[in-house]
Amino acid sequence: MKAIRGATTIETDTADEIRNAIQELLSAIVKKNHLTEDNIICILFSNTSDIRSFYPAKAAREAGFSRCALYSSLEPEMDGALKKCLRVLVLAESECAEHVYLRRAANLRKDLKRFAIALDGPSGSGKSTVARLLAKSYNILYLDTGAMYRACALKAIRENIKNYTEDSIAPLMEKLDLQIKYADGTQHTILDGDDVSDAIRRPEVSMAASSISALRCVREKMVEMQRRIAQEQSCVLDGRDIGSYVLPNAAFKFFITATSEVRAKRRYLELKSKGFDVDFDSLLAEIELRDKNDSTRAFSPLKMAEDAILIDTSEKTIEEVVRVIEKKIQEKV
Ligand code: C5P
Repeated sequence: MKAIRGATTIETDTADEIRNAIQELLSAIVKKNHLTEDNIICILFSNTSDIRSFYPAKAAREAGFSRCALYSSLEPEMDGALKKCLRVLVLAESECAEHVYLRRAANLRKDLKRFAIALDGPSGSGKSTVARLLAKSYNILYLDTGAMYRACALKAIRENIKNYTEDSIAPLMEKLDLQIKYADGTQHTILDGDDVSDAIRRPEVSMAASSISALRCVREKMVEMQRRIAQEQSCVLDGRDIGSYVLPNAAFKFFITATSEVRAKRRYLELKSKGFDVDFDSLLAEIELRDKNDSTRAFSPLKMAEDAILIDTSEKTIEEVVRVIEKKIQEKV
């Protein structure tokens, strides 16, 4: 069984306004949660004390909710409460619980609006695992922006371009056929029609991505794609400049870091487990070089946004980091 919440408001306390508002709210809840009258067990209403002309439960009966139990109650007067507000709690046999807040009540639950979580930090800080877990926990999309720069690098490697300059790469960007798709909640990076999600993880692509991502023609194209994706749905994006440049208005911003030794060790274990033959010292050198490239490039460098929360993961497990972030998000909503 699921508990589905909702609320709406009216402007004048008349029976007709209450009927319309309740009907609108309940049909939105039914539609969003794919409910039928048979799987609704009961509907509980409450309303602020400035609404007295009609029972919301009666409005629901009139709107056709004839079989489930209905109940209305009056809320106590509270300082600062939203005026003329009708609230509902629907108990139903349902797979999901999509809460619905309409009219002036939409502001009551800012957390239900479309939002973005920006997760920036250097390579190997644990961003992608944390981002994946957060996306799962909030049931939102995870956009791995590093994969997009890696795809640009793979394209340059495939075209045999050795020196990455605006002149050599800009024509490549113009004809770039890059798509980000999702299957079973997992991001797939599609380059020229090929799924390159594994190929872009190769160590030589990591270094090439770090160089190519410094170019303005590459960043402008990728940032435009990232903004478009984030505009369409709530998502968590991990990268280097999400909070500082791509989505400066993101609701939640975190900067995740760890010492370079810890990060190199994580990358070493990850690549080993995928069957790559890697050497710790060269990984450490690579991580330090990528850090330097990423944070010293002229255009949109790796940078902690002023309003981001810094989290050092050197001594924390992934689960601890996720818990810290969820707690910070909860405190903010
Ligand atoms: O995060 P990941 O290691 O997959 O990123 C690959 C490279 O892409 C990074 O070294 C960085 O240079 C670049 N990148 C970037 N901006 C982002 C994400 C990644 O410059 N938002």
